[in-house]
Amino acid sequence: MTSLDRTAITKIQLWTLDIPTTDPFVVATGQLNTAQNIIVKLTLRDGSVGFGEIAPFTDITGETVTDSLKTAQSLANSLLGTSVYQYRRLAQQFQNYAPNFPATRCGMETAVLDALCRSAGIPLWTLWGGADVRERETDITIPICNPARTLTLGQEWYERGFRLFKMKVGHDVDKDIQRIETLHQSLPDVTFLVDPNQGFTRDAAATFIEGVKKVGGIIEILEQPLPKDDLEGAAWLSQTYHIPIAADESVQTVSDAQLVIQHKAANFINLKITKSGVLETLDIVTLAKQSDLKLMIGGMLETRITMGCSFSLVLGFGGIEYLDLDTPLLLETDPVKGGYTYRCSYLQPWYNPGLGVSLPPPANSEVIQ
Ligand SMILES: [Mg+2]
Repeated sequence: MTSLDRTAITKIQLWTLDIPTTDPFVVATGQLNTAQNIIVKLTLRDGSVGFGEIAPFTDITGETVTDSLKTAQSLANSLLGTSVYQYRRLAQQFQNYAPNFPATRCGMETAVLDALCRSAGIPLWTLWGGADVRERETDITIPICNPARTLTLGQEWYERGFRLFKMKVGHDVDKDIQRIETLHQSLPDVTFLVDPNQGFTRDAAATFIEGVKKVGGIIEILEQPLPKDDLEGAAWLSQTYHIPIAADESVQTVSDAQLVIQHKAANFINLKITKSGVLETLDIVTLAKQSDLKLMIGGMLETRITMGCSFSLVLGFGGIEYLDLDTPLLLETDPVKGGYTYRCSYLQPWYNPGLGVSLPPPANSEVIQ
């Protein structure tokens, strides 16, 4: 039996996993109260398993749970009998079949990569080079909410050791400035990563930047302030106000990243494997490293399965400056065992093969074999 035979996929299980959020996850483009995700579990002929997670966020990638599940079933059928050693071929196959389902592709790719590394006996970050294996600090997200709740959440996270707050804003500039002022006065050593999720006009962004400066808050990065196609506007903001701008919704693909570079429309790209797929994210990392774009990494509403895959890129590639890998902390429960852990605001590397995680399938999981 060759190594390709030993690592052929013999079984795929799919099931949905709903986990409520601790607070309504409100951003400028929508709201979620529950992470409604799909778990993928692969089994190989040699007995190795691999886990992946599909986390559709309809407002960002247009995928719904129902459509993602159907697409995942089709992709799963095409996987049977193929070796996970042919990862790029499989990822390309997913890309060709489901170009508009990046979250679905991401879940399938993650399961393939996890199984591949478990079969080889290496942690997933080894596959990317193990360039920077150490604990890393993440920010914590404060969703759009009133100033009183903002302060309560901020104080709670501060007590738990968080010092970089990711502020969701974009509904009302005056209130946004007020929320930052309230936090800054109460917790002066906290700094801010601000994310309007395309919710500002150019004027509103200018008002916001000047308003926050006046109240003394420090913005480390302003992420996707303007509609994703307004690259000229983003370049103008960056040059006029000398504030680091991150492109999130503006960059889903490598060609998007090329356009951002041409327009000088960002200082950072916010990588997300759920919006781009894993393979496309690897290509965006390569492109960014050839330009002077810096990198940060975030996610949708994900458990430690998808987020562990994102953390593997941080540990493996190195050079990813900011981590926004906090969403497992915003969910009411964490059903995933093993894998990376949190020590206060710091993600701890793991050393078991693959993602090092486990999650038992329910009795009603769909089995494809
Ligand atoms: Mg964002």
